[in-house]
Amino acid sequence: MSLYIAVDIGGTQTRAACYPADSLKPVRLSRTTTHAADPTDQRTEPLERIQDLIASIWPKRDSVRAISVAAPGPTNPYSGVVYQAPNIPSWEDVPLRQSLQERFNVPVEVGNDANLAALCEWKFGAGHGHRHLVYLTISTGIGGGVIIDDKLLLGVHGLAAELGHTTVVYDGPVCSCGQRGHLEAVASGTALAHWVEDQLSQGSSSILPLHRRITARMISEAARKGDQLSLAALARAGCFIGCALASFLHIFNPTVVVIGGGVSRSGPLLLGPMYESMQEHVIDPHYLEDLKLTTAVFGDKAGLVGALALAHTLHP
Ligand SMILES: [Zn+2]
Repeated sequence: MSLYIAVDIGGTQTRAACYPADSLKPVRLSRTTTHAADPTDQRTEPLERIQDLIASIWPKRDSVRAISVAAPGPTNPYSGVVYQAPNIPSWEDVPLRQSLQERFNVPVEVGNDANLAALCEWKFGAGHGHRHLVYLTISTGIGGGVIIDDKLLLGVHGLAAELGHTTVVYDGPVCSCGQRGHLEAVASGTALAHWVEDQLSQGSSSILPLHRRITARMISEAARKGDQLSLAALARAGCFIGCALASFLHIFNPTVVVIGGGVSRSGPLLLGPMYESMQEHVIDPHYLEDLKLTTAVFGDKAGLVGALALAHTLHP
């Protein structure tokens, strides 16, 4: 039997799984912390840790058709170089494909995790059967992926579809990338938390505690209990995302929009205002005709299954 190995490198945790060619059920799965957990840990470099993780699930009898990796940052899928990984500061222009190919001697594919999550939802999940898909993941940051005519949109360096870094508020708050007013800077989980902390310190009443670190999950839970400040925060983020989505409809004209990431679990409290805002900002009702707006199926497995989807596509 011939197997695929999929790897999802996260900011804190890295997972690797071994899949049969015809199944989404891994036969082996293992995980490790991306960074050494303590100073006595011999394997200090994230790259070394990833290599050891792959070796630990390597099949004893079966052959490996390809290794496919979801990387957490701007990545060139043609050269297999990870340009940057926001949560792995030492990573700059890391030749991930080359180093894995040298060690394991099988074909290696590398992609950006949000792009691969889009591929995953299109091939196996909420966007299955659609030829034109826009995927947005809303968690700590905001990532995206686009499928046009059944193909993942990559661009010349594989840097296309950074949808979270679309400017929605000229001169708005500073984004994680250093620019101002990006969607991520006003509507990500981090942005939600900052906005609520700000409102609390200015005296807004809420069931959320003052002078404590607020998280998007806390906001989501408080909103479900009817907390007005939390409801307003989700509605505000929803408006920004909807406004950006209208632009994405204008640019890509998809038949399905898939929303993933932890913040999307706030459900209608976020998605309702988002849909209204998208409708309001769209320039022609035809964009909304037959448009499906849905949440992602794969949750935190999207990177891993997305890497598998890439391996399926390139090494059938
Ligand atoms: Zn940005």
